Amino acid sequence: MIVYVCNSCGKAYFEPRGICQCGSDSFREEERETTRIHCVKLMVPPAGFPDQVEFCLSQAKGTKVFEIVRSA
Ligand SMILES: [Zn+2]
Repeated sequence: MIVYVCNSCGKAYFEPRGICQCGSDSFREEERETTRIHCVKLMVPPAGFPDQVEFCLSQAKGTKVFEIVRSA
């Protein structure tokens, strides 16, 4: 999973940001392995999703991220 890391203070964000909380607007993309913390499986997913969808709150080296896991 790609996270966006501030070049100034090193804080990682799950989504691209215009400006970091430290005031810097310089980011780099970093690939990080995630660990799933909490998952919720939807048996009746919203339109446009596959039959079963699992939403996971995960952690990528200290950064909380939100994953959508497609289970066939
Ligand atoms: Zn920063």
